[in-house]
Amino acid sequence: MHTLYHASIYDRARPTPSYWEATAPAAAPRAPAVDGDVTAPVAVIGGGLTGLSCALHLARDHGIEPRVLEAGPIGWGASSRAGGFVCFGATKLSFAQSLARHGEDGTRALWRAQAEAIELVEALAADEAIDYGRQGDGQFELAHKPSRFRELAEEREALARYAGVASELLSPEAFAERGHGGGENHGALHVKAGFGLHPLRWTWGLAEAALRRGAKLHGQSPVVAWRREGARHRLVTPTGVVLAERVVVATNGYTADGLLADLDGRPMPVISNIIVTRPLTDEERTAVPWHTETPIANTRIRLFYYRLLPDNRLLFGARGDTTGQPEHGQKVARWMHRRMGELFPPLRGIAIDFTWRGLVCLLPKLSPAVGRSADDPSVFYGLGYHGNGMAMAPWTGRLLARLVVGESTEVDLVPAALRGAGPAVLLPSRRLWWLRLALAWYGVRDRL
Ligand SMILES: Cc1cc2nc3c(=O)[nH]c(=O)nc-3n(C[C@H](O)[C@H](O)[C@H](O)COP(=O)(O)OP(=O)(O)OC[C@H]3O[C@@H](n4cnc5c(N)ncnc54)[C@H](O)[C@@H]3O)c2cc1C
Repeated sequence: MHTLYHASIYDRARPTPSYWEATAPAAAPRAPAVDGDVTAPVAVIGGGLTGLSCALHLARDHGIEPRVLEAGPIGWGASSRAGGFVCFGATKLSFAQSLARHGEDGTRALWRAQAEAIELVEALAADEAIDYGRQGDGQFELAHKPSRFRELAEEREALARYAGVASELLSPEAFAERGHGGGENHGALHVKAGFGLHPLRWTWGLAEAALRRGAKLHGQSPVVAWRREGARHRLVTPTGVVLAERVVVATNGYTADGLLADLDGRPMPVISNIIVTRPLTDEERTAVPWHTETPIANTRIRLFYYRLLPDNRLLFGARGDTTGQPEHGQKVARWMHRRMGELFPPLRGIAIDFTWRGLVCLLPKLSPAVGRSADDPSVFYGLGYHGNGMAMAPWTGRLLARLVVGESTEVDLVPAALRGAGPAVLLPSRRLWWLRLALAWYGVRDRL
């Protein structure tokens, strides 16, 4: 199997040095490695939010007790590394592009799915008693240029029309009063859906719920080989073999080429970096000034996303390097530190306590992919949330559970924009070259 980045990006032996790990619940969910030969009605490959939600829904709603196989500790991938923004953005299609491709109804289905996904986070947390560390109210999109403020006005109308979600346009002055002071404020859109959460508590909470409902979780169990054996799938891990009747692939940005032919050459994994400051003093908060716990993202394509954490630290995220080499990650983190200081001068040079990175998953079709393998009707997949899977991944996991049990067909259950993996990237082995070209172009667009 083949992956795109430097080996350090896939090093599951090293703990993630994140703020979320440092503030996680005391005990990780019980997930022993596969031991010997075992069977399962359904095997789920990937123990992030997609796989865990699929397992929870299979066990809770459909009476099927699946096994989840995760290469690292449970939640090791993007799910435990995220910024914790629960928001829209699982597609990179603009409303205009979506209308051209999927029409009015298809566009409504795509945005309603994202609104439902946000609602699902709250419903699942309530049903399964998950303390996910909720913060803020909605999301701010901050215009980094006057022209982007005009685009936010159009977005406001489209969100109301297609997602049924209200939002409020704020002048630069109004955002400075409700959001924060500092640079690059040309007005904002306050989307009245979403919030911030603690990604690791959310992920482990879903894992504990899946366990309680009868799913079995296996950490340190990478699927290194997979073949058909009669009516069953033989999934080989270093410590044992799982014989499964059906398989769900939920490996998102960590999907290796060679795992499932339907996905080969599709995922465009992109590194996202996060830095977290030491706690801000009251004087620093007043000096910025900083008024909100609501998550904020600016309108750059190469965006900055940031939020104030419960202990007054600032979490600041941005897209990362394109090699995965540790020294390139460190260079990006230094650049982010400098840019953060430029945006918020009172915080210039502030100590950074946590730095980490992980893979988000883009797809050439520009919207998530949910489907059934063309070669084998007992294999399913769900991935590609374009950096916004805190809500969309659990929503997809629930949808996958319905597909697996045959509740209905893909055509009935999966919105057209999400159905299927779409085409592969041209020259898949050159994906990182395409990414470098795209990032260079986005950098130019962000300045226009
Ligand atoms: C730095 C960063 C910031 C982000 N911020 C946000 C945010 O603020 N809001 C938001 O909505 N989204 C955010 N995201 C995206 C979000 O985290 C993901 O969309 C979401 O977690 C995807 O969940 P998943 O379960 O599909 O994938 P993942 O959580 O990546 O899980 C996939 C798992 O599959 C495992 N795996 C891969 N291959 C195998 C194999 N062969 N055998 C067994 N296991 C395997 C991997 O180890 C991995 O743990 C962010 C992501 C990153 C990296």
